[in-house]
Amino acid sequence: MDMPHTVDVMTATIPETHRLTGQMIIAGTPVRGTGTQIHAFDPAAGAALDPPYHHGDAGNVDAACAAAADAFGTYRATTSDQRARFLEAIAGQIEAISEPLIARAVAETGLPQARITGEVGRTTGQLRLFAEVLREGSYQGARIDTALPDRSPLPRPDLRQRFIGLGPVAVFGASNFPLAFSVAGGDTASALAAGCPVVVKAHDAHPGTSELVGRAVTAAVAESGMPAGTFSLLFGSGAGLGIALVTDPRIKAVGFTGSRSGGTALVAAAAARPEPIPVYAEMSSINPVFVLDGALAGRGNELGRAFVASLTMGSGQFCTNPGLVIAVDGPGLDAFVAAAREALAQAPATPMLTPAIARSYAEGVTALSGAAELVGRGQDASNECGCHAALFTTDAESFLNSEALQAEVFGSSSLIVRCADAAEMHAVADGIEGQLTATVHADDSDLDAAAELLPRLELKAGRILFGGWPTGVEVSHAMVHGGPFPATSDSRSTSVGSRAIERFLRPVCYQNVPKSLLPSAIADGNPDHLWRRIDGRLSQD
Ligand code: NAP
Repeated sequence: MDMPHTVDVMTATIPETHRLTGQMIIAGTPVRGTGTQIHAFDPAAGAALDPPYHHGDAGNVDAACAAAADAFGTYRATTSDQRARFLEAIAGQIEAISEPLIARAVAETGLPQARITGEVGRTTGQLRLFAEVLREGSYQGARIDTALPDRSPLPRPDLRQRFIGLGPVAVFGASNFPLAFSVAGGDTASALAAGCPVVVKAHDAHPGTSELVGRAVTAAVAESGMPAGTFSLLFGSGAGLGIALVTDPRIKAVGFTGSRSGGTALVAAAAARPEPIPVYAEMSSINPVFVLDGALAGRGNELGRAFVASLTMGSGQFCTNPGLVIAVDGPGLDAFVAAAREALAQAPATPMLTPAIARSYAEGVTALSGAAELVGRGQDASNECGCHAALFTTDAESFLNSEALQAEVFGSSSLIVRCADAAEMHAVADGIEGQLTATVHADDSDLDAAAELLPRLELKAGRILFGGWPTGVEVSHAMVHGGPFPATSDSRSTSVGSRAIERFLRPVCYQNVPKSLLPSAIADGNPDHLWRRIDGRLSQD
């Protein structure tokens, strides 16, 4: 990457204690890498940012993993309440640096200050949500099947079950959520909640943000009396340091958000280990939006405008961006398309996260241009990172027969599939790959048609929305941010919301274990006051 000049956005207003050092953190100790030098890049200003960072090497991976493995025994033996207080301490440490953190993240990503401010709140909010989950306790899945010594023909032993953490987890920071899915984001929060030490590989797109958050987590580790190896932060290339991390025998699971090629490479590396481990990779989704006839007839215009607002938000750099619209051809769809074209023409070219992501977006749009008809474009980009929004249209048969038309184009690009009838719409629903979301716009007159669509969409998506737009993911207990491949590498879990903790846990059954040795979650007398499944029934006894 060309480095015309560098800007240190951290020096003018930032107290000494928050100055960036350009260092990794291994078990509480700042370590300067000795590999490739990188700079963050301000995509709005087109300038590199100081300080320089250096990639780490195999020795750094070894040190971080050794410390994590060493910390695991002590860390996993902490009580739920101790870990809850630790997660709250991380949230507090992040809030204490929110001003420099927001300034740096805005500079490194080109995302608006309001969006980054919201992301700080989401990050601290999800840490606190997991603290609540820990205190509530049902994540431990406590079950007791009482002994039946007199059962015939064979007695039943005393059987007790609870979940424990898998072990040290490698987390890959995502480029598009520099806080909520990066160093102390959802993957890190859920792994730490589960009792797993975390080694983060930062994303090169926001090293300063990563360092600031890494230092906040490190301060919380010390403040909470957790072992230093509970958390480490490394910089490095995916193919080098990233693969070394995933293949280190002390790492027991991986959390990732990014490209399909990156995610599948990590899955392959993890599966080829002598001891294969789970990789929870959230990768590629085009998030189909089905607009049914009644909704189109009554609200085609309004829906077209609202669709473009969702499409262009954050330069379309959301895994839930609406990259596909499916509807039956007719005047309602014409109105939708006309309104969308008009709204798109007003959409400014906002910066994308990195020059590489902007280039990849432009290539994706070029590929779509060769395979579909252009409906309209947003305003032209004024710099190399600007996102020039694009909207295309095609028919159902062409869509179903084209890999290019079905591929994710990360950014503000979408494709409208004009179907001849409901049967074609069903064929598209049945033919698409796995998705994070599927959205249905339906009026009362559409409910029968929607009932035919819903069971099809259940098989394709992790989240089904009626009304609204898929961008915007609530962090809560019922949320699913997951879905069949290639949306994720493992459709059985979610990366957003409190169920994310389950990915980093495994059940252990204790058979006839002496009462004095039983963990408190499954001990007699229920000292933790948990809801437990006793002989098949939920009880607080
Ligand atoms: P990425 O290229 O997948 O990179 C994410 C992380 O994975 C980086 O740390 C990267 O390291 C590492 N990585 C990539 N390829 C790897 C490989 N073969 N082996 C090991 N590690 C690997 O994603 P990105 O940088 O965020 O954006 C690039 C493209 O990914 C976008 O244009 C978009 O298509 C897609 N993306 C999708 C989503 C989504 O939510 N669906 C989100 C973000 C990005 P390096 O820095 O060394 O490459």
